[in-house]
Amino acid sequence: MKSKSAALLMVSGILSCWGLPACLSTPAEMDSRPLGDDGPGTPPPDLRPDVIAVSVLGPTGALPVKGDMLELTLAVQNLGAGSGTVTLRPLLTSARFNDFVDVSLEPITFTLGGRETREVSLSVEPIVIDAAKGKHFALNRGDYDLSGVIVDVAGEPLSVDTDFLGAAFTIAPSDVVFSAVVYDASYFERIGYDGTPETYMREAFDRATEVFTPESPGSSEGTYTAFDGFDDMMGVRQIFHAVGGLAASSAGGGFCEQVGAHARAVFGLTRDWDIDEANGNFTDPDHHGFDLLVGLTPEMGGGATCGWLGVQVSGQFGSDRSLDRSQLVVVHETGHLFGAPHCDPLQGYVMCGGEQHPHYVDDKIFVWHQVSLDVMQNRWR
Ligand SMILES: [Zn+2]
Repeated sequence: MKSKSAALLMVSGILSCWGLPACLSTPAEMDSRPLGDDGPGTPPPDLRPDVIAVSVLGPTGALPVKGDMLELTLAVQNLGAGSGTVTLRPLLTSARFNDFVDVSLEPITFTLGGRETREVSLSVEPIVIDAAKGKHFALNRGDYDLSGVIVDVAGEPLSVDTDFLGAAFTIAPSDVVFSAVVYDASYFERIGYDGTPETYMREAFDRATEVFTPESPGSSEGTYTAFDGFDDMMGVRQIFHAVGGLAASSAGGGFCEQVGAHARAVFGLTRDWDIDEANGNFTDPDHHGFDLLVGLTPEMGGGATCGWLGVQVSGQFGSDRSLDRSQLVVVHETGHLFGAPHCDPLQGYVMCGGEQHPHYVDDKIFVWHQVSLDVMQNRWR
């Protein structure tokens, strides 16, 4: 609210005054309304929406947690006697993330009767794209402010209402991890995959998975525990948001760096994607709320993870461009981001030649070794 101009705040104050019966018939105040294109002396428009209060909750009516669809409710009062169509566009500002100021949410259009007070609501996906800004955002945990509501009434210039109750809210932590993905469309063409990139990623991390726990360290005897995928194994729930146009090549420099630069361009970040490993917080405040970054390109043989950047790049094997093997690479590289090194000299597990395990060969199960799991963690809570 501090960022708004004094003029706008003054307007809001006057509108609030109009809400009181004592103010309603005070011509001097009505004439002093500084917004509007009707000149001095002409009556003010009679459709005057005033946002009184807002509330932000999760989908079940509880306080929101990371990954939730937000349910916004706005109480709007018409201070005028006329009725008509109103469009409100809420603006969202994050206290935790940089360059996350007055991000425009979807508009809400409705009719408002003379002197009517009503509630209108809006569902907000956890991934927000502000097309006008050319920027993409994820609603990570932290403190937020509904920093304003753009009010659009036909025939009137736009105004911004910043004076209402309930603007501040908090999104609590959860097991959700926001995985940003940038991709080269030919990655999918070469596999022959025709679903969406998000579906591809979801399927990769929901693959039938097992963890092998040896009877004693290094033993080949042990037990297998089944999971419904990587996310189930790690106790996380990744939300993927994918944008194309990646054109990385081996001639273009480091693949991780090319992926990080492309992420800057398509998500509208203020710098190339990298992380500050030293601060122990792997969700960088400059990443618009996204936690980790994945690049998909057929130009790279195999894959690579750059821990100092928080970026993994998954390519393909020319000898095996199958869906199974390509998804095994994706999961392997994200395994690195979760902290797992290679498990060589063991062989046959996701972090050390997972394609060799009999359970993969026979049933395409992704088998992890317990030594990998022991050092992996969700770093993005
Ligand atoms: Zn590796």
